[in-house]
Amino acid sequence: MIPGVKLVVLGKQGAGKGTQCMRLSHHYVVPHISTGDMFRAAIKSGSPLGRKARELIDAGELVSDDIVIAMVAERLNHNDTKSRGFVLDGYPRTVVQAQALADLLAPGDLDMVAELVVPTSLVLKRLAGRRVCEDCGHNYHVSAPPRVDWTCDICGGEVVQREDDTEAAIRRRLDLYEHETAPLVDWYRERGQLVQVSGVGNADAVTARLVKAIDSRPPFGRFRSSGKGKGQGKR
Ligand code: AMP
Repeated sequence: MIPGVKLVVLGKQGAGKGTQCMRLSHHYVVPHISTGDMFRAAIKSGSPLGRKARELIDAGELVSDDIVIAMVAERLNHNDTKSRGFVLDGYPRTVVQAQALADLLAPGDLDMVAELVVPTSLVLKRLAGRRVCEDCGHNYHVSAPPRVDWTCDICGGEVVQREDDTEAAIRRRLDLYEHETAPLVDWYRERGQLVQVSGVGNADAVTARLVKAIDSRPPFGRFRSSGKGKGQGKR
């Protein structure tokens, strides 16, 4: 059986987090938990959470810590994440959220925090041309559109530009990343959990780098603390 994994992936908007987290979730057979996708689904369904979050998200602002923390805590309480783990995409985004995640998990339970490192000039180029399937969230770029008339190759959904991929919202989100999320890199580095991986190049090459970094980590996290004897930490 493929062992599960508990991962956090950090990176600026446009660093390729969504694509890479989806690939990692298939590779390790664990749920891909994207707080951005959860909010977009809530907005689409018109739920009270979606109504509360919509304006903030469209403007590129962050949703308040208490709302996001409660939403993730509820999701991490499901059986799939408890038994196999998760790939967290877009969470945590503030030190308060990182502390809440640490409080939620057993000590040493997170296997790795990977930061996808990409220069700002490249993420701006990626974001300006980014198009997303409204239904499954698959990403495209104007230079590599779906085969047929902005219809998703994977699920047939409509491929559109995200409301928060406007120039003003992109600038605001990158600014927030710098001030709110970048400090997390040091926070996790101090705790010995951070690995930085270049997000430049094609998606296959970036996935290979991530998998190599994850698989070459010593067996730790929940495997180390499982107390089930030799062999439990093998990946
Ligand atoms: P993303 O798809 O990860 O870029 O998220 C889209 C938007 O959802 C963000 O710009 C925020 O407005 C909101 N959001 C997602 N995750 C978080 C989070 N962890 N904390 C606060 N806001 C979030």
